[in-house]
Amino acid sequence: MPEPPTATTLAELTTLRLGGPAAELVEAHDETSLVEAVGSADERGTPVLIVGGGSNLVVADEGYDGRVVVVRNTGLSNESDLCGGAFVEIGAGETWDDVVATAVDRGWIGIEALSGIPGTVGATPIQNVGAYGQEISQTLARVRTWDRKLRGFRTFAASECSFGYRTSRFKQDPGRQVVVSVTFQFPLGDLGAPVRYAELANALGVQVGERAPARDVREAVLDLRRSKAMVLDAEDHDTWSTGSFFTNPIVPAGQLPDGAPAWPQDDGLVKTSAAWLIDRAGFTKGYGNDRVRLSSRHTLAITNRGSATTSELLDLAREIRDGVDQRFGITLVNEPVLVNCAL
Ligand SMILES: Cc1cc2nc3c(=O)[nH]c(=O)nc-3n(C[C@H](O)[C@H](O)[C@H](O)COP(=O)(O)OP(=O)(O)OC[C@H]3O[C@@H](n4cnc5c(N)ncnc54)[C@H](O)[C@@H]3O)c2cc1C
Repeated sequence: MPEPPTATTLAELTTLRLGGPAAELVEAHDETSLVEAVGSADERGTPVLIVGGGSNLVVADEGYDGRVVVVRNTGLSNESDLCGGAFVEIGAGETWDDVVATAVDRGWIGIEALSGIPGTVGATPIQNVGAYGQEISQTLARVRTWDRKLRGFRTFAASECSFGYRTSRFKQDPGRQVVVSVTFQFPLGDLGAPVRYAELANALGVQVGERAPARDVREAVLDLRRSKAMVLDAEDHDTWSTGSFFTNPIVPAGQLPDGAPAWPQDDGLVKTSAAWLIDRAGFTKGYGNDRVRLSSRHTLAITNRGSATTSELLDLAREIRDGVDQRFGITLVNEPVLVNCAL
């Protein structure tokens, strides 16, 4: 059976430490109670919010007038360890970075550059989590879900997940699929996947496209992330955030401001840096006030200094979005999921 509530406000469940009360709160520690918690609310017509680690959520000060279901089902089964690699099914409630550490220990290759990302395994397919040249779509084999509309379990192969830059079919059809487990297929070895990110290659002393020991990649990524306050630390308000608040915009080449970073995409469009745009529009690191401001170590993170409200956070996000729009004619889009509030 689902467990009784252990928190009363969403602020206790989010890395921003923001968000008002939940009308109902249920923690589900296994697959059966997860499906029961969601299914019984659906039968009553009660809205459901699924929460993992709360690291990509901005919840209104008014809270959530429905049932919040916290996903805590764990378990990791290594189905095979053949020459084709390790085929590993992981419960949605497992902590993502623990899984990366295990993968590096066991020689499962392909997620070492995703070290230090907060949150749970079940949330990783939602926005195709990525960093430092890796995305989970590169190693994900399938996603098992509870389909709230069809009221049954489903399995999506990676090719059916519509993965893109910080998006997937799950993000495009929000709330319908409850991720129960994710299966990855990892090549085996001591060397990590070829390094695709210049800053990481530089830190490792290799060229882009070369490989380095997976352990070294993990340590280098954790060091880089810590220097940018992108590893959670309760003592450090620069990490009281959702990580990047805006995605990197993808625009026609002709719309790119002079000097802006440009990463050409397959469809002829160009991805540019949201951090560069924000900085050049006058919102430098630390911009804001003593309640809510940009991280002093990362232009893309909007942080709660300890006593902020969601409303104040959104005001700052709007000011930045509108400032970038006025300066460059590019509208930034939020990366975190907004619950009961809007930009
Ligand atoms: C300091 C910091 C650094 C970050 N760095 C990165 C980064 O480098 N790259 C990156 O991609 N992201 C990054 N993020 C964002 C975030 O960590 C990821 O998006 C992460 O996958 C969210 O996991 P979560 O369990 O916390 O999800 P939550 O915040 O709890 O939920 C996010 C969304 O997923 C849904 N969801 C969660 N679990 C399930 C489930 N089991 N089934 C269905 N829906 C579910 C929720 O309903 C919500 O819509 C960072 C965040 C922080 C705070």
